[in-house]
Amino acid sequence: MSNNLLQHGAVLRVDLGAVRANYRLLKGMLKEGGGATECAAVVKADAYGLGAAQVASALLKEGCRHYFVAHLDEGVRLRSVLPGSAQIYVLHGPPPGTESMFHVHRLVPVLSTMEQIAGWRRLARQLNAALPAVIQFDTGKSGLGLSSADLACLHQESHLVCGIDVRYAMSQLACADDPEHPANQAQLDEFQRLRAMFPKWKASLANSSGIFLGARFHGDLARPGAALYGLAPVHGAANPLRQPVQLKARIIQVRQLAAGAGVGNGLTYKATGPRRIATLSIGYADGWGRGMGNRGVVWFDGVPAPMAGMVSMDTCSVDVTGIAEDKSGPGQFADLVTAHYTIDDIARATGTVGDEILTGLGPRICRDYVDEN
Ligand SMILES: *Cc1c(COP(=O)(O)O)cnc(C)c1O
Repeated sequence: MSNNLLQHGAVLRVDLGAVRANYRLLKGMLKEGGGATECAAVVKADAYGLGAAQVASALLKEGCRHYFVAHLDEGVRLRSVLPGSAQIYVLHGPPPGTESMFHVHRLVPVLSTMEQIAGWRRLARQLNAALPAVIQFDTGKSGLGLSSADLACLHQESHLVCGIDVRYAMSQLACADDPEHPANQAQLDEFQRLRAMFPKWKASLANSSGIFLGARFHGDLARPGAALYGLAPVHGAANPLRQPVQLKARIIQVRQLAAGAGVGNGLTYKATGPRRIATLSIGYADGWGRGMGNRGVVWFDGVPAPMAGMVSMDTCSVDVTGIAEDKSGPGQFADLVTAHYTIDDIARATGTVGDEILTGLGPRICRDYVDEN
């Protein structure tokens, strides 16, 4: 372990080759769909915690030309690592008064309200230029996007999009990870109905899970995030993706407990007999959340050790009674996430979703990049 890694309590190993392989798999599925669907990469939230600059640069090698972030600030930072030929879309659109920053940094806003459209139209008029944008439709998720009344208004008063070069009509699926859910077809029908008013605009609908719903959902540009990072796209089905992340945390101290001793805040764990307890240098400030308290396991050379007690801000404890002492001493590392005990497995054990765990892994965790094929 290098000195640099020794300065950190935990290490997230990121295999960019696995991210690239996942991108190729998704691209292949879009191609099988028979259309000319392009595959974007959603790299918001620092590429779900893996590192936006590293992930975007790796995917550039695979020919990815479209990248999505959520905030203007994320877009500005990503622009400095990507060539001008790469499109960067900002999902939240421009807060009023920031439109010119989008133009300066060559960022394409996703416009979800009539006010955002008016702001972008004003800038286009000032510059006397056509400015690119994506226009988001709400098709039932009731989050971001224009209502069908807004779209009827745009349809009747086409001057409202004057000067806006609409690259895509976009919408978000609410239940795509459940292929049987009736909302998928209902949202697709609504999207097609609304798009028929603007036949020249290309379409972008599918997130990771949407790609797995089949070609009807693919549109012209798919927007996978989670699947690139190995998270399961279809609820309850086998996961075909590679696992790009492994997480390890260092043991700081090991102690021998007598029967009846308690562990951690609130003493929620009680030793039922003599126990060896190891304290790891990762806690909820690192995104190893309180939901892990007394739930789930960590691994030593493939042997599981259960979490013991509540997670603290900087540490958590595990019961290493069943682990060989030469594998579980101070300075040694526990495996928290592996190819066989994935982020999704942890999410299931602790009652959340993989995206939340992955995006929560904090900046104190050292990122260690490899790019294997
Ligand atoms: C985050 C996001 C995505 C990516 O979704 P995944 O489920 O992670 O693939 C796609 N589109 C929009 C609008 C998003 O906000």
